[in-house]
Amino acid sequence: MTAKVLIKQEKCTGCRTCEIVCSYHLSRAFQPSISKIQIVWDSERSKMHITMDQCDLCEGEEAPLCVRYCSPKALVYQPAAN
Ligand code: SF4
Ligand code: SF4
Repeated sequence: MTAKVLIKQEKCTGCRTCEIVCSYHLSRAFQPSISKIQIVWDSERSKMHITMDQCDLCEGEEAPLCVRYCSPKALVYQPAAN
């Protein structure tokens, strides 16, 4: 099993810190629109919806930044298993 970031949507507060730090990983600038993780309010279900596309698991960083800075722990890093 490959490493991945697990998403616990029910814990997400919609703070969007993950989008900011992801864009910092990608461009060394704060530009949430380019983030590989996106937070969208689902008005029909009245909860946050999280998508992650083409994530490189923060290659080159010490740890995935979105996981590190998600205070409510809605994002959890799962290392690769043999
Ligand atoms: S940092 Fe965590 S709580 Fe904040 S929007 Fe992202 S997933 Fe949700
Ligand atoms: S692990 Fe890194 S690249 Fe992937 S979504 Fe999180 S911050 Fe972005």
